Amino acid sequence: MDKRQLISNIKQNFMLKRVRAQEESENYINSLRKNEEFNKLYTEYSHVKFEYLKTSYEEENIALKHDMQDLQLKINQYLDKNGYDKTKMTPQYECKICNDTGVVGGRICSCLMKELNKTLSIKSSSISKFKSFKDVDISLMNDVDHKALEILKTWCDKYPNVSKININIMGASGSGKTFLMECMANELVTSGQVVTFKTAFEINELARLYHMGKSYEFSDILKTDILFIDDLGTEPIIKNITKEYLYNLINVRQMNNLPTIISTNLSEDDILSRYDERIFSRLANKNLSINLLLTSQDKRIIKKTK
Ligand SMILES: [Zn+2]
Repeated sequence: MDKRQLISNIKQNFMLKRVRAQEESENYINSLRKNEEFNKLYTEYSHVKFEYLKTSYEEENIALKHDMQDLQLKINQYLDKNGYDKTKMTPQYECKICNDTGVVGGRICSCLMKELNKTLSIKSSSISKFKSFKDVDISLMNDVDHKALEILKTWCDKYPNVSKININIMGASGSGKTFLMECMANELVTSGQVVTFKTAFEINELARLYHMGKSYEFSDILKTDILFIDDLGTEPIIKNITKEYLYNLINVRQMNNLPTIISTNLSEDDILSRYDERIFSRLANKNLSINLLLTSQDKRIIKKTK
């Protein structure tokens, strides 16, 4: 099943959830209407509500609203007295934020985002908190980092119409590299891309397992739409594996025009000496790569809203 199909399925499921919740409350009301007392109250309530929605005279409006509240109260009293569950009178949506529409204030609701993440992204190690670019406190960013942020945002907006398919985000630890990558990943997942987010350590481990014939997940990483490699350089170098598989990974993805986004504490010189010239030349290829160096050490760029 392709991505578009998956997304349309998810949206359809949301619609079905809504319809189901509405049907359940309607059915509940219909079953209650078999009671004469309830039926009388509810018929009157429906009538007043209809008048209320129809009228445009403010005075009449206030009076009708008052009647409505009055009847609502009587209905609730009736339900309480007879042991009925009054919450079932209104549709019980799963998500109380968006009422299962998946949208809130023109933006994707976290419930839909979660569903998209779950379905579209291959297991990712650390994207679970749904970080987004709007969580970045720009006022605390220096000019260099702010420019880097704008470049990354633009890249996400333009994808797949991008000419540079490698992004190397460099900078000391604590400069917000991982955070910015997570923002990108979520932005891309939201727009329906298949994203894989792994630490270099995890990729190294998958390469080792692949090499030993114990797991073939490494081949999924070769093919994923957009690959994020967090913290390149923190993985141990395993002889015949780390450098070889990393080279293959980057090379195969470049040949297939698939973006790879890397964060690292290493400088260009460090990359050259830790890995080898072949890996370095692919990562540093100016025609295919965007190289960004974050210079801030201020972790506060992440708004403490979540
Ligand atoms: Zn929601």
